[in-house]
Amino acid sequence: MLSKEKIEKYKNTLEGMKESLEDEIAHLETPVDMGDFPGEDENTDESEQAFNQRSSASSLRDELDEVESALIKIQKGNYGKCESCGQEIEEEILDISPESKFCRECNKKNINKK
Ligand SMILES: [Zn+2]
Repeated sequence: MLSKEKIEKYKNTLEGMKESLEDEIAHLETPVDMGDFPGEDENTDESEQAFNQRSSASSLRDELDEVESALIKIQKGNYGKCESCGQEIEEEILDISPESKFCRECNKKNINKK
């Protein structure tokens, strides 16, 4: 069973992660300053760059989703349980990534499935 202190610690870590992810996403989604470069040729590079930024923003969003759902679980009091088998997630795993949804065994299984 996770102690209250431990959960509090993970919560702080998660909140910090959430803030920096939100910052990064906001930064990525800010339109790039195109500068004063008229001409057709610029367009290709710029849209490619915008595309890359969007795709990394969307992977950050996925991460943010996981962080947020972990925070919701803390609020509900069911944090630290594996979503697959219902066992408690090992603290070593939560120490490394507090947003983890699965215990070590299920993580292994998930990796093998891919
Ligand atoms: Zn599990």
